[in-house]
Amino acid sequence: MQGALEVSGLAFAYDGAAAVRDVSLTVKPGEIVALLGANGAGKSTTVRMIAGVLRPQKGDIRFDGEVLSGSPSHHVVRRGITLVPEGRLVFPQMTVMENLQLGAHIKERGRIGALVDKAFTLFPRLAERRGQLAGSMSGGEQQMLAIARGLMAEPRLVILDEPSLGLMPKVTQEMFQLIEAVNRSGISVLLVEQNLHQSLRIAHRGYVLEKGAVVLAGTGEELLANAYVQRAFLGR
Ligand code: ATP
Repeated sequence: MQGALEVSGLAFAYDGAAAVRDVSLTVKPGEIVALLGANGAGKSTTVRMIAGVLRPQKGDIRFDGEVLSGSPSHHVVRRGITLVPEGRLVFPQMTVMENLQLGAHIKERGRIGALVDKAFTLFPRLAERRGQLAGSMSGGEQQMLAIARGLMAEPRLVILDEPSLGLMPKVTQEMFQLIEAVNRSGISVLLVEQNLHQSLRIAHRGYVLEKGAVVLAGTGEELLANAYVQRAFLGR
């Protein structure tokens, strides 16, 4: 099984202001790994570097043994990593089907139909709404569509940046179940979340970032039981 990510010593500053100072992490094939931390801890900056949206100023990124650091995002997508960015970025004036087809633009035309069918199997709610304009769907449905569109490039690793942001509790629960289903379909997942409890419950392992550096790492269970995590994030 593929989908192994190794990141070491990443650093990035925006105009001299350090956002990520020292981040090392791994995702093993088949894992769900949570990347946690407060607002501004550097989570999005980290995943933007992994996805090739930002060029790391220090550090090294390898995917399935090949060096990725410095590759542009379209190259990273072809190598098997897709980032679903924060904020449900779907095309509102296009239908569900059109959004999915756009996600498959790097694939051969003849394969797109099969990929859409696969997405509809994983996300039956989208199948029911294939002709609906994306902008008229609920927040949770738009987030589902954003993830499904990311999967159309057939990644071996999908990075989800705050998929539960702004969703109601019931929908959030459904979103986490869907993430587990995506993982069971054979895709490694790097999950950026502020929803610590639910993400650690589905994650095999997790990392906690603070001021641009990893301050804690462990299994989901270890982190949930950790006194620092309980104090800093769970208000106990
Ligand atoms: P959040 O959960 O709020 O998205 P985060 O952990 O993802 O936070 P980042 O978005 O990576 O954190 O931000 C890390 C730091 O970098 C913050 O201080 C933020 O203000 C800063 N930053 C992020 N994006 C930019 C940008 N485009 N230009 C300048 N500073 C930025």
